[in-house]
Amino acid sequence: MQTRHLPRRARVFHLISDRQSVLCTFLLMASICAVGCDDRPRGQGPGHREQPLALSPAQELQIGREAFHEILERTPPLTGGPDLERVTRVSQRIAKAAQIEPLQREINLRLADYEFEWEYCVLKNDQVNAFCLPGGKIVVLTGLMRTIQTDDQLAAVIAHEVAHALAHHASERVARERTIGHGLLSLSYNRKQESEADHIGIFLMTFAGYDPQQAVVLWQKMMNAGQNQVHLPEFLSDHPNDGRRMEQLQAWVAPARAAKKALDEGRVAPAVQHR
Ligand SMILES: [Zn+2]
Repeated sequence: MQTRHLPRRARVFHLISDRQSVLCTFLLMASICAVGCDDRPRGQGPGHREQPLALSPAQELQIGREAFHEILERTPPLTGGPDLERVTRVSQRIAKAAQIEPLQREINLRLADYEFEWEYCVLKNDQVNAFCLPGGKIVVLTGLMRTIQTDDQLAAVIAHEVAHALAHHASERVARERTIGHGLLSLSYNRKQESEADHIGIFLMTFAGYDPQQAVVLWQKMMNAGQNQVHLPEFLSDHPNDGRRMEQLQAWVAPARAAKKALDEGRVAPAVQHR
């Protein structure tokens, strides 16, 4: 994985909800968050699961660039202030943690041929949301910034969104929807992606030096905030069941801390020779 940090853009643009744009796909993905991962190891994807991909590394990078450019054309990002400082600070640490080879190896992330051009921006928008486009473009909305209280909680959200990008979930969705359409099977795969992003995200934030327990605190808080909303049954929803999600998140906290401790103490297996 090659990584480049580009300067933050300070351009003027508007709006985030154009249904005609490719952006919508990613916003939609970013808004679906939940649990449920039980694939058996057998493929080249994250966790050694089978994972068809529709986009080449170059296509992912280009789509990410174009979608980010479109967002910046439409909505003016913040050019300074504590929200932008916090998002930049946390995003940089998460992006750096994504380069930790033992972590990549443990998750079996496919990153060798991929280039990430990390960029960060904050948009004034009341939605409680954030997303990471393919290629490493992180977008956080001010509605989320009003909800989170600490860097650890922001790290939980950003790590989850970055996990989607690292695991090529957008490319996988395109591939799966080409072959199986938008039915129940597709929803099942979407839930697997959400669970996977939770799992990878917990480890990513921990390796970046944040407290993984705060992911549980934050998602629980967001779940409570949404408790009056109408929920679809899990089998009809992209979202895994909230209670199950909390259980899984909590179960991953201790292993993530143990893995970070092992790395800090030099107790990790030597790197495998890639190609
Ligand atoms: Zn998600």
